[in-house]
Amino acid sequence: MTAEKAALASGSILVVGGGISGLTTTLEAAEVGYEVFLVEKNPYLGGRVTQLNQYFPKLCPPSCGLEINFRRIKDNPRIHVFTLAEVEKVDGTAGNYDVTIKLNPRFVNENCTACDECVDACPVERNNGFNFDMDKNKAIYRPFNMAFPMRYVIDPSVCTGPECGKCAEVCKYDAIELQMEAKTINLNVGAIVWATGWEPYDASKIDNLGFGQYDNIITNMMMERLAAPNGPTKGKILRPSDNKEPESVLFVQCAGSRDENHLPYCSYICCMASLKQATYVRERYPDAKIYICYIDVRAPGQRYEKFYKKIKEDENVFLIKGKAAEVSEDPETRNITVVAENTETGEKIHQTAEMVVLATGMVPTTLASKPPADLKYNEDGFIVNDFEKGGMFAAGCANKPSDVVSSNQNATGMALKAIQTLVRR
Ligand SMILES: Cc1cc2nc3c(=O)[nH]c(=O)nc-3n(C[C@H](O)[C@H](O)[C@H](O)COP(=O)(O)OP(=O)(O)OC[C@H]3O[C@@H](n4cnc5c(N)ncnc54)[C@H](O)[C@@H]3O)c2cc1C
Repeated sequence: MTAEKAALASGSILVVGGGISGLTTTLEAAEVGYEVFLVEKNPYLGGRVTQLNQYFPKLCPPSCGLEINFRRIKDNPRIHVFTLAEVEKVDGTAGNYDVTIKLNPRFVNENCTACDECVDACPVERNNGFNFDMDKNKAIYRPFNMAFPMRYVIDPSVCTGPECGKCAEVCKYDAIELQMEAKTINLNVGAIVWATGWEPYDASKIDNLGFGQYDNIITNMMMERLAAPNGPTKGKILRPSDNKEPESVLFVQCAGSRDENHLPYCSYICCMASLKQATYVRERYPDAKIYICYIDVRAPGQRYEKFYKKIKEDENVFLIKGKAAEVSEDPETRNITVVAENTETGEKIHQTAEMVVLATGMVPTTLASKPPADLKYNEDGFIVNDFEKGGMFAAGCANKPSDVVSSNQNATGMALKAIQTLVRR
């Protein structure tokens, strides 16, 4: 490379979204010598993967993959991480973007040792969104036990600030700054990778499937939190109405997916997620029965097919070909009966279970709030990569519904696209 080219190649990259895709793009670009700014709106990195109990198909906890990435980030001086941060404005063109970033206050500084004394002193409780409101935490909180950065944060929507000040009083490390204010910073970068990910489809919009109406109908992401050792029930899968250990669990596949009234597309991961969650229940309750109502099971590729076949061999797992059409609750037992219709034969199946899990799909975060940049979207709100125009790219679930492996592959590709933008300037 000529000296001139090398100088051009030292331009920087902005990655928006610190989920598994954003982390991958950041690390791949930084580890070959590029400066990367990583902007994450949450107070922690890792995205939705941090809420999972285990990853399919290996069934290892997400911390195995994430911790290595966090270490690589810590060790790399070319990476600049901003949490509680959002992009406010993007001006310019490929190779030369001026970006304005808003840094929201954490109200807790780097002195924090995560000792927990502030939490004991805090008198304000809030719904714990990380656990889909299945438990409560305090106005000052650590998002979850393995959060990176390992620092507390205050929720300003419920905290009464200096008026209360109890957390600041007990903090021995001078870590709490209740007067902290939002800041704005400006960056000049050559390329931007949007890795803004997904949100669970709002199950309460699916009128016929009883979410929000019957306590014992939960979503697949709630199941991840119930099964997680750091979740609201410390990993015990208990049905919400009475904390009973369920003797039967029914999974409703394509809950709101492949449905013109909700999400017309397949989210790619829901079949695998339910098969995986069947193992969570079977592991804990050896006699429990699992029913999976499906239109067709999508377990793409060799490894996923193998995983599916293994679960199918379990004599307590029953696969029912039928699209769930309606649900009802027995008011005494609080059990749920699902009526599913075989779309080919028209046959109706009634199946009762103590708990129902709706396998809801993924919605791009960009559907509800579009980034302030000139991007193209498909009809479902996912960002379309315009490689001809270049400069800005979408990685992982910002681009399409994907599992972790495909998100990582796609994010690695987008790191290369971002680097090519800088080199070709
Ligand atoms: C029930 C369920 C179970 C699953 N289980 C598995 C599994 O076992 N194995 C597997 O491979 N996959 C699984 N998946 C899929 C997996 O969750 C996704 O592949 C993964 O989350 C994709 O990562 P991502 O970084 O693209 O998106 P996300 O995880 O959504 O991360 C996006 C990040 O961007 C941030 N962000 C969003 N908007 C902005 C903004 N404007 N500014 C700054 N930051 C922003 C978000 O806060 C978030 O941190 C499962 C999915 C579901 C629904």
